[in-house]
Amino acid sequence: MINQQFTQKFDREPAVSAQAPGRLEFIGNHTDYNGGPVLGVSVDRRISVALAPRADRQVHLWSATMDRETITNLDSITPLTGEDSWANYALGVLKELIDAGMKTPHGFDMAVDSDLPPGAGLSSSAAFELSCGYGMSALFDFELERADMARVGRRAENNFVGMPCGILDQGVSAFGDVDCLVKIDCEREEFNRLPLPQDVHFWVFNTAKKHSLVDSLYGERHRECMESVKRLQAALPNITCLAQVNSEQLEANHALLGDVLLRRARHIVGECERVRAVELALKSGDMRAVGKMLFESHDSSRINFENSIAELDLLVDELRRTDNVWGARLTGGGFGGAVMAVTNSAFDQKQAEKNVQAYQDKFGQQATFFHTQTGPGAHRTEVTA
Ligand code: ADP
Ligand code: MG
Repeated sequence: MINQQFTQKFDREPAVSAQAPGRLEFIGNHTDYNGGPVLGVSVDRRISVALAPRADRQVHLWSATMDRETITNLDSITPLTGEDSWANYALGVLKELIDAGMKTPHGFDMAVDSDLPPGAGLSSSAAFELSCGYGMSALFDFELERADMARVGRRAENNFVGMPCGILDQGVSAFGDVDCLVKIDCEREEFNRLPLPQDVHFWVFNTAKKHSLVDSLYGERHRECMESVKRLQAALPNITCLAQVNSEQLEANHALLGDVLLRRARHIVGECERVRAVELALKSGDMRAVGKMLFESHDSSRINFENSIAELDLLVDELRRTDNVWGARLTGGGFGGAVMAVTNSAFDQKQAEKNVQAYQDKFGQQATFFHTQTGPGAHRTEVTA
């Protein structure tokens, strides 16, 4: 598909192609940049790219899904603004790969296609970065370990796009696989695959709502977490991140934080503990316990981290009352986006429709939903005629 699109647009065959999946944050909300653990799954929806070299030093980037083309040059790779800013994910990856030693003797054309809704909590941005990483490195014959490719994507987003995200999104898009969860220890940056129990299904309910201040709110939470660490160091001088604090230590030192920072820290510390508990429950196949923790995670987002919105809360509350649902929570950064429901195989379209009907009744607007399963992680694909 991506190959045909490339050919239609650029009038020749692509030389290489690659794809990378979106991800669901299973549990571990905002723990990544706090040095904690997080569990994610790669979904069976992805961004695909196809590339071919050019004779000159120009870089032509074309998104089929957005029907937008951005043209730049290898000798002037700087962040773009306005209508061209979508290209920053690709250009950031290109720059990071060059900084890592990739040689680019010539320019290239690249086509991008996607079945991942952007801004829906599925991290289309990381899928975009990782597909570019595998596509560009294939084109320029450059080898990089999987973990380093995830880091390239993250640095592109941090430095080039200007989003201070942790390693979760890129780590899961890189390391995800069918029937697996990816566990990331974000302090050590260790990536591991865990088996997902049988008969676990994912349903994504997308509110299509995005807080207008989402990027600055993300940055604000980031700063609040760093400030909490600084203040807690007065009593716990050896800590370097919130993930190193447990609940007892936090509550014993609550006076250092004040109400807002205490709630932010409670969320992170609680999430770290819940991730560990979920890992144990998964090992024994106790999906009831897993689901309970997913709901608790959402409650903590709503009350402590204040990164939920009424639309997400309503969907989670409806799902809490629905049969065949193990658990549900907002997935991703929050302040809008999507709810992930983890269900058994008996959960069906009718039940999903009932949930979005309740949403429609309350908000007068549609929420969309889809069923998804785990899918393979980022990889180069065959260019077939
Ligand atoms: P999320 O990662 O949660 O989907 P982000 O705001 O981090 O949301 O990333 C979405 C951005 O990624 C889009 O605004 C766009 O710039 C870029 N993007 C995602 N998918 C595509 C696509 N198919 N074509 C071009 N750009 C895309
Ligand atoms: Mg993103």
